[in-house]
Amino acid sequence: MRTAYQYRLRLTRQQQATIDCWLELCRRQYNYRLAERFSWYEQNRCDVNACSLVCHLSELKDRPDFYWQKRDLVNSKKLFPEYKDLPSHTLQDVIARVEKAFDRWLRGDSNGKRSGKPRFKGQGRFRSIAFPDPLKLEHINGRFIQLPKIGKLKMILHRPLPDGFKIKTAAIVKKADGYYITLSLQDATVPVLAPDTPELDNTIGIDMGLKSFLFTDAGEEIEIPQHYRKAEKRLKRLQRSQSRKKKGSNRRKKAIKRVSKAHMLVSNQRKDFHYKSAKKLLSQGKHVAHEKLNIKGIARTRLAKSTHDAGWGQFLQILSIKAERAGLLAIAVNPNGTSQNCSGCGAKVPKELKDRTHACPKCGLTLDRDYNAAINIKYLAVGHSVNKAQVTSDAIAGVTLVARSVCLSIRVGSMSLLGDGRSSWRSRWRIPIADRKCWWRRSTHKRADAASCLYWWLQQPRGFVSRDSLSSFCGSSAYIH
Ligand SMILES: [Zn+2]
Repeated sequence: MRTAYQYRLRLTRQQQATIDCWLELCRRQYNYRLAERFSWYEQNRCDVNACSLVCHLSELKDRPDFYWQKRDLVNSKKLFPEYKDLPSHTLQDVIARVEKAFDRWLRGDSNGKRSGKPRFKGQGRFRSIAFPDPLKLEHINGRFIQLPKIGKLKMILHRPLPDGFKIKTAAIVKKADGYYITLSLQDATVPVLAPDTPELDNTIGIDMGLKSFLFTDAGEEIEIPQHYRKAEKRLKRLQRSQSRKKKGSNRRKKAIKRVSKAHMLVSNQRKDFHYKSAKKLLSQGKHVAHEKLNIKGIARTRLAKSTHDAGWGQFLQILSIKAERAGLLAIAVNPNGTSQNCSGCGAKVPKELKDRTHACPKCGLTLDRDYNAAINIKYLAVGHSVNKAQVTSDAIAGVTLVARSVCLSIRVGSMSLLGDGRSSWRSRWRIPIADRKCWWRRSTHKRADAASCLYWWLQQPRGFVSRDSLSSFCGSSAYIH
């Protein structure tokens, strides 16, 4: 298992100055190496249709890749001897970051998702330095941690390091309120828990929204604390006071610090809320199904501020990490139709964002809109292709849950049973059931079954279908939701 612990550092003036100096050197190195790559890229490419047949070619240079740039660090150290004061692996990590930023831009990550063009880092924008070498346990002595080339640093050990874990890497991060050290820990002996398959009784569905942060399929609701909205007034005052200060002055620097601390407070509050909500969900010991959110898309709309204040992305990240530790799953499902479809019968009930309740005209189900969506999300995660009609006997005050019918969904491929020539044909019937305690089966998508099922159903007299005739027909290959 790999995990990270972060501790606050209590540095001396001298150590602070050293770290600041290293950060600045790393920033310059980063910018220089980035520029090196950009210029090679610019000089060594030309469009096929814009290049003249005979043209002067300058001598081709080696492409600056990771290893080339790493070797070239020797020259940096020759030209600027202050680079010799840095641990060499810290400097090499800067090159690795350039490589990663560049690759993400040109090639994309493992999912093929490309990032934007890397940017040069302005002053103070390079905030962390890495120590990529494993630390031995004797390097930590009480509250002191020994790092290469800087010596012993005092840290606030607010919680002990877990037993049996090895320190793989360390990184010093400069934040608005001081310096922190992040230790990446690993213990190979901790087994990875294998999650069991999600089923109806071991999964909870959550619908995330702007009205409430999340709504579970058990009807629980967690409010959005709106930390940013609450802090906005104070932030506004601080920002105004900052902009009144003369540029480059000490008072401005102090004002900038105040603003960044206020922002940090908000983000810490939000993170805390996310951890607590994730813990609350996972303490039930069930898999959590959520919608696959298009956060970037929503954040471009008028709802941007509220979206960022809710911070779903961070929450889902925390949720998936914490779920993995607990041997559970965080399942993302396709959000199409989760709020429109009825969780009782699967019928589509169109509604706008302002309609807060779901009232199904077909089966009479009346629920909160988010509650309905949460149930749908759960069904999708469990693997129901169409939302399954459900029997819920428990009475919730003011809420009626009635399952009056079974949805029969049939897809016939090239077999055109009705003879109208359509090659693919899909339909759904709702069969009223006499016995309310009917059972349902997972769908098996077999065309032959669908066709025979349809044929059988067409033979039946209209009206009620008894439970017995349904089960005797469907047997092992039910096509009933
Ligand atoms: Zn319905």
